[in-house]
Parts: sequence; structure tokens; C-alpha cells
Amino acid sequence: MGSCKEQTEDPKPNCEFVSGPIIVGAGPSGLAVAACLSNHGVPSLILEKSDCIASLWQHKTYDRLKLHLPKQFCQLPLMGFPDNFPKYPTKHQFISYLEAYASHFSIKPRFNQAVQNASFDSAYGLWRVQTQDFLYISRWLIVATGENAEPVIPHIHGLDKFQGPIRHTSVYKSGSDFRNQRVLVIGCGNSGMEVSLDLCRYNAIPHMVVRNTVHVLPREMFGFSTFQIGMTLLKWLPVKLVDKILLLVASLTLGNTEQLGLRRPKTGPLELKSATGKTPVLDVGALSQIKSGKIKVVENVKEMTRNGAKFMNGQEKEFDSIILATGYKSNVPTWLKGCDFFTEEGMPKSPCPSCWKGCDGLYTVGFARKGLSGTAYDAVEIAKDIVDQWKTSQDCKKSSTCDPHIILVK
Ligand SMILES: Cc1cc2nc3c(=O)[nH]c(=O)nc-3n(C[C@H](O)[C@H](O)[C@H](O)COP(=O)(O)OP(=O)(O)OC[C@H]3O[C@@H](n4cnc5c(N)ncnc54)[C@H](O)[C@@H]3O)c2cc1C
Repeated sequence: MGSCKEQTEDPKPNCEFVSGPIIVGAGPSGLAVAACLSNHGVPSLILEKSDCIASLWQHKTYDRLKLHLPKQFCQLPLMGFPDNFPKYPTKHQFISYLEAYASHFSIKPRFNQAVQNASFDSAYGLWRVQTQDFLYISRWLIVATGENAEPVIPHIHGLDKFQGPIRHTSVYKSGSDFRNQRVLVIGCGNSGMEVSLDLCRYNAIPHMVVRNTVHVLPREMFGFSTFQIGMTLLKWLPVKLVDKILLLVASLTLGNTEQLGLRRPKTGPLELKSATGKTPVLDVGALSQIKSGKIKVVENVKEMTRNGAKFMNGQEKEFDSIILATGYKSNVPTWLKGCDFFTEEGMPKSPCPSCWKGCDGLYTVGFARKGLSGTAYDAVEIAKDIVDQWKTSQDCKKSSTCDPHIILVK
């Protein structure tokens, strides 16, 4: 292992020993775990590839986005949302909350530090975390790069032939760029539905491609959030029964979505979410636009042409633009090396809720497929787990028998 000492003798050191954990990613998860550690007196360093906190929310989301879940399920540990925030805060309110959160806990991430490689050096018992211009070393590595780090661009035959603009939802801001256009929206999850709804508001003609089965639920039932009802019922009833209740109420309030071309999966919405991470769509108005014909539901695409698409049922249509509402994926396998804690898809292999802890001082926050409520749980558990190790390392340091700096340069 190249020692930090050798490199710090350089007038411009390019290596740093971090006494507390290194956290990769300054999204809500990275901020939450830094705050929980700080609350126990443990310092940490966040490395963030972007130039701001919560870059997903600041740079990759559309203007009209609101939290999908009520605010009490989206707040980070130790500091709730301001009382004057609405039940479903806007993305701008959520970002202002995260900025206030970072400032309250004096969290100052190091920006423009994209982690390119991180690996555990078993000879020294330390993590080596390499960015484009710097090497960071610590006993602990906390992965907070998110389940949604990179857009998924599916292979669609002939996509490169299409002459019009093609955008992933991560760069879609508003329907104002698509006024009066025929837009093919590929994907019917929450993003596909909400983008289609937004396009309607700008007189565009969205055609939403439904490639798979999908559960659409009303956002609220009897004035309560559907998510809240589901979580409450789960305390008393098995998941299959809760799913049956949710689907019964959904069919009474929304009608038969299958008739609109939205076939439901065989597995219920909550069971499916916990097994695969696939989130049900919480309807915020797209369904009524589908019913009125303003959003057109279309079959899967067979191939793209210069001016449009050929569908599986043999139909052909012309389009001005394509929006890929095809989701996101984790990027962990691209930078975390020599570690078999994650699957090839970049998700923890071990079942949640205990998926926050790996071995050799490795932790993950925000990978439990439970959104921000999962983040809050992970952050609290990780801080509790690290605090004792931190105290022991500080005691060691005082007695100078096991100072990691000494280990590092010997
Ligand atoms: C449109 C949309 C709406 C959503 N709405 C909700 C909702 O209402 N409620 C809910 O609970 N969840 C929602 N989610 C899920 C959302 O992903 C999480 O709520 C939240 O953003 C997860 O936080 P995170 O910190 O784990 O990941 P992210 O917010 O993705 O943050 C990860 C950070 O890591 C950084 N990073 C990535 N790779 C590297 C690297 N190699 N080196 C350094 N930094 C890196 C990124 O730049 C980013 O800043 C939504 C997601 C989307 C896309």
C-alpha cells in the first residue's frame, strides 16, 4: 500500500487519512448518516461527485415534482420538516429542507469528488477511496450513492434511427418544450405517468408505452395516504390480505384499470414492492387523462423508425419526440471493487432491513427499497454501530498503541 506519509511530503498532498467514516454521496442518505454520526460526536467526510447536495433532486427531476409520500414518511432523522410545509412538499421545498438540514448539522461535503475506485486493503484494515485527483483513506466506508444513480437506457431496436429529440426523464424539466407535439413516453411507472400528465398541461399529445404490468393505486383513500394505510394495516395483517384490501378500494375508486390497458401484476402491490423493489404508481391525475383519451396508452414498441414507432400489434405512428421514463439503476459496481456485498445490479445481497451492514467497516444507506423512510432507519443503525468502534479507536489513539496513522505509515 502506498503510504499517505510519502505523498503528504509533496507540497500539494493528494492523499488524506480521514479519521471518521468516508461517506460516498451527498444525497438525503449521505446527509442523514453524517447527521446521525455527528450527533454521536463522530466526524465524517462526504465525497460528492456533483457540485451540490441532493443532486438527483436539484438536477435530475422535473419542475412539478412533489414528494410521492406524505412528509412524515420522508423526513430525515433528528430534524423534521417545517410545520408550514404541505402534506406533499414540492421538490423545491424538499431541497430547501435538505439545505437547512446540512447547515443545521454543519455538514460540508467535498464537492466535485467522483469516487472512481474504492477497495478494502486487508493488510492494513483500511478503505482506499480514489477520486479523479485524490486518495482518501479510512477505517469505514459508507455507500450512499443511491438506488437511482444512473438513468437506465433500454435497448430499443432502431432507436438510433429516430430523427427527433430523445430524452430520459432525468433531463425532462417541463412540458413547455413539447407544446403541441406528439410525444412517445416509454414507461408507465410514477415518472412515465407524471410526465405524461405534465405534457397534457402543455397541449402535447402523450402516447404512453406500457411494456409491463403495473399497479396503479389512488394516492389517498378516505382522506388518508394509501401508503400510510398500507403501513398501518401491515402491523396487524399479512401482506397478501393488506394487498387485497388496497386493490379492492383501488378498483372501487379508480375502476378497472385493465380496461385502460394497464394490466395489474399477479402479485399484490406491497408484496411486489418488497420482493422486487417495483413501486406501485400513486395516481396524481394521470388516470383521469387516460380515461378522457388525452393520454393514449399504447403497446410495446417493436422498433423505432426515422419519424416514429412500429408497435407490437403492427400499428405504426409518427412522433416528434421520445421521452424515456425507463428508470434508474445503482452505480456501485462501477466503483466499489473487490467486494461481494453487492449484486451485479449494485444492490445489497443480504436481505433488508439488515442490509445496511457489510464487513470490514462497509455500510450502505438508502438501498432498502423503502425510499426515504428506509434511509432514516439505515442512518440511525449505522451511526449506532460505528459509535462504539469510533470510541475504541479514539481510546487506542490516546494510548498510541493502535493509532491507524501509525499502522498506515509503518
Ligand atoms: C422522480 C423521483 C421522485 C422520488 N420521490 C420520492 C418520494 O416522494 N419519497 C421517497 O421516499 N423517495 C422518492 N424517490 C426516491 C429517491 O431516490 C430517494 O428518496 C432519495 O433521493 C434517495 O436518496 P439517496 O441519498 O439514497 O440517493 P440520491 O438522492 O440519488 O443521492 C446519491 C448521491 O450520490 C452521488 N454519487 C453517485 N455516485 C457517486 C460517486 N461515484 N462518487 C461520488 N458521489 C456519487 C450523486 O451525485 C447523488 O448526489 C424519488 C426518486 C425519483 C427519481
